[in-house]
Amino acid sequence: MSKQYVFQFEEGFGKGKELLGGKGAGLAEMTHINVPIPQGFTISTEACTLYYESGKNLPEFLVKEIYANVKEVESKTGKNFGGDKNPLLVSVRSGARVSMPGMMDTILNLGLNDKTVQVLAKETNNERFAFDSYRRFILMFTNIAKGHPRTEMDKMLDDLKKAKGYKLDTEVTAEELKKLVEEYKAYYFKTFGEEFPTDPYKQLIEAVTAVFRSWDNPRANVYRMMNNIPYSWGTAVNVQSMAFGNKGETSGTGVAFSRDPGTGEKVISAEYLPNAQGEDVVAGIRTPLHIDELKKRMPDVYKQFMDTIQLMEKHYRDMQDMEFTVEEGKLFFLQTRNGKRTPAAALKMACDMVDEGLITEDEAVLRIDALSFDKLLLPGFDKDELKGATPIAKGLAAGPGAGTGKIAFTAEEAEKRHAAGEKVVLVRAETSPEDIVGMVASEAILTMRGGMTSHAAVVARGMGKCCVCGCAQAIIDEENRTLTIGDKVYTDKDLLSIDGSTGNIYYGSIKTVQPDLTSGYFGRLMAWVDERRKLKVRTNADTPRDAKQAKDFGAQGIGLCRTEHMFFDKDRIFSMRKMILADTVEQREAALAEIEPMQQKDFEDLYEIMDGLNVNVRLLDPPLHEFLPQEEVLIEELAKATKKTVHEVKDRIAELHEANPMMGHRGCRLAVTYPEICKMQTSAIIKAAINVTKKTGKKVEPEIMVPLVLEVKELKFVKNIICETADKLIKESGVDIKYHVGTMIEIPRAALLSDEIAKEAEFFSFGTNDLTQMTFGFSRDDAAKFLPSYYDTKIFEEDPFKTLDQKGVGKLVDMSVKLGRSTREDLHVGVCGETGGDPKSIEFYHNAGLDYVSCSPFRVPVARLAAAQAQIKNPR
Ligand code: PEP
Ligand code: MG
Repeated sequence: MSKQYVFQFEEGFGKGKELLGGKGAGLAEMTHINVPIPQGFTISTEACTLYYESGKNLPEFLVKEIYANVKEVESKTGKNFGGDKNPLLVSVRSGARVSMPGMMDTILNLGLNDKTVQVLAKETNNERFAFDSYRRFILMFTNIAKGHPRTEMDKMLDDLKKAKGYKLDTEVTAEELKKLVEEYKAYYFKTFGEEFPTDPYKQLIEAVTAVFRSWDNPRANVYRMMNNIPYSWGTAVNVQSMAFGNKGETSGTGVAFSRDPGTGEKVISAEYLPNAQGEDVVAGIRTPLHIDELKKRMPDVYKQFMDTIQLMEKHYRDMQDMEFTVEEGKLFFLQTRNGKRTPAAALKMACDMVDEGLITEDEAVLRIDALSFDKLLLPGFDKDELKGATPIAKGLAAGPGAGTGKIAFTAEEAEKRHAAGEKVVLVRAETSPEDIVGMVASEAILTMRGGMTSHAAVVARGMGKCCVCGCAQAIIDEENRTLTIGDKVYTDKDLLSIDGSTGNIYYGSIKTVQPDLTSGYFGRLMAWVDERRKLKVRTNADTPRDAKQAKDFGAQGIGLCRTEHMFFDKDRIFSMRKMILADTVEQREAALAEIEPMQQKDFEDLYEIMDGLNVNVRLLDPPLHEFLPQEEVLIEELAKATKKTVHEVKDRIAELHEANPMMGHRGCRLAVTYPEICKMQTSAIIKAAINVTKKTGKKVEPEIMVPLVLEVKELKFVKNIICETADKLIKESGVDIKYHVGTMIEIPRAALLSDEIAKEAEFFSFGTNDLTQMTFGFSRDDAAKFLPSYYDTKIFEEDPFKTLDQKGVGKLVDMSVKLGRSTREDLHVGVCGETGGDPKSIEFYHNAGLDYVSCSPFRVPVARLAAAQAQIKNPR
């Protein structure tokens, strides 16, 4: 039998999201557990791939398969597609493997034409409804299937309402809608030079094609990039018979979450809009009402609704996000999926569901999205300052955290001002998918219209961005760039503070504070996490403040202390410059002697804060010229202090200039040319360890890391200097100090020769910043200029400096670990490049057998979680 691309809902059970997309798999499963849904079928993600492989065409055999499935729905529903009686109308919706809210396109009411609209009007005895559905369909078809902007058609409706003095769409009469339909069709003819298609099968094929095409639209591409969704997945298409929520007062539509997606509270959170279609809710055109409205109007339907939701949550063992429609007193669920939630809600739900016996602790750990986990660490407003502040307005608490900034009225403006270093709050009447880049650039988002499931709310929650929406008191005039609340008018010069957890809006700025991370749900989850993970998590820190912060976040040591960062201080840089300018070893030693006590104090502070945990100090690794002054006054000052002429200093600066400093005189090459620097640093590291061991009674066991090694003889040369210096100091002190010497693996040659290098190194730490740069052959500082073209053209799907390139650089890492341990069985291995804090990369490091990852303080909890998830998925 030839391959099947199209599946009736009841055929899809057990076929999975990969094939049917999240929505399609959900519909299949709902059919299986007898949830009332409108009949239909799913065109698989493989059909999407086929469409792209066929040069963006649907092959004839696929078209036939789709037609056959329409026939089946006709026979199940007793309705006719394009027929004279009981016409079948369908919705056509995208449905990728993971949900991408608002990113792709939906067409409703497909199957309407001049004939079926009349039948529908007659059979439902509701002409207004029939023509309203028809005009919506023409609009959506033009906009989505034909890719034409909806502006002109929206204007036609607005003009009509203005002329008649109507406020709401619902006030427009049937006769007026009929005229509007004619106007829309004329506009269609004028624009495309052909009549609006009357054949429903033709309509369907164009709509399916449009959904497949929308997988590649710019906003879907941006969303995928942000959420690490591969382009190759493709989307499925769901064709489902329409249920009408706009058939009058016993009809309506709404959305429901089986628990509160904002707080995680175990209460069904739902909205209902009588006499409307789902589109009205999602687009934020009308603000929905509380679900009690349904209870008031139709108590029986309400009861069935509540029972079905509970059934679904139990079945799926996760919080469900559902769309439903009531058509003349009959309830239909249109879709269900695991609901998006704020990180705080995710945490509470995971813990509660363990207590309810719904899921295991392992599942609870896997339920937390590591990518947005750091949003939990987001600041909230200071409680005391908040007490003294009076909100100027209140909206729906739709996205987590708190944010302060000046008002920006458009996404472009927000983006520009953010790029110029300003903190902005994006204030919009409502947001649309095109606003996504501006939303990313804003501290917070405020909208006037839209409920908890409007675009702004869904996208903000997904991003972990502070958002308040549906704030009806805020009158936003985007054209004149004003925000009016009561009798006060605010402009882009005004500061607002937005509280995403309460929905309150304040004038001016309010201090923010960090959340408590040791108790409650967070503490509980992290205890499960720490019981499970095999990878240790260290931090990259070179200041006491960072070290303290990281320790509070659970860091198990310092994996990288970049000592060059310790020299940028105003007092220190001068001594450093003198050292660089020195002509003789003696002069250099004298300058280093000035620096040593400062370095020693730095290390003492770090050792004390880390309280017995490992501290890995890396020897100096900058291109030397980075330390030299450019300004005339500084050069003069330096000349004076070193008893040189300005000319001589300038000559030395010119001499130190390198064409390609990243591949120049840096890393251990400095120790080879100026061993005194290595001696001084070793001395500071060891003396500090001796002092702190004496002072605290706790043994300090420093790790000394040699950067940018490419050859075992080079490492041996530097190691000899370290050991000679250290052993002498330890002997003199009489304190028993153990120390370890190891290397970074950040040059491909070092990875290739790791068996030889491991003979001299007690530990390896992968510097994936340099290793990526040197493996790819492009500079980490310049790549951002051209990488966007690589994303656009799909050559790359993610930034290799953020997420490890497993195929290439990962191969080197894997090989290096194996080679290294082949000559030193107990080689201790970690990673300290940026990728050490990235969840996907952490899974790779877990599988590669690393001992630890090291990342910036703020990423430590994320890394702990990701390490536990990796162990659960792939125990080692
Ligand atoms: C690295 O190269 O990954 C690394 C951690 O070192 P740096 O970023 O300091 O070059
Ligand atoms: Mg490096």
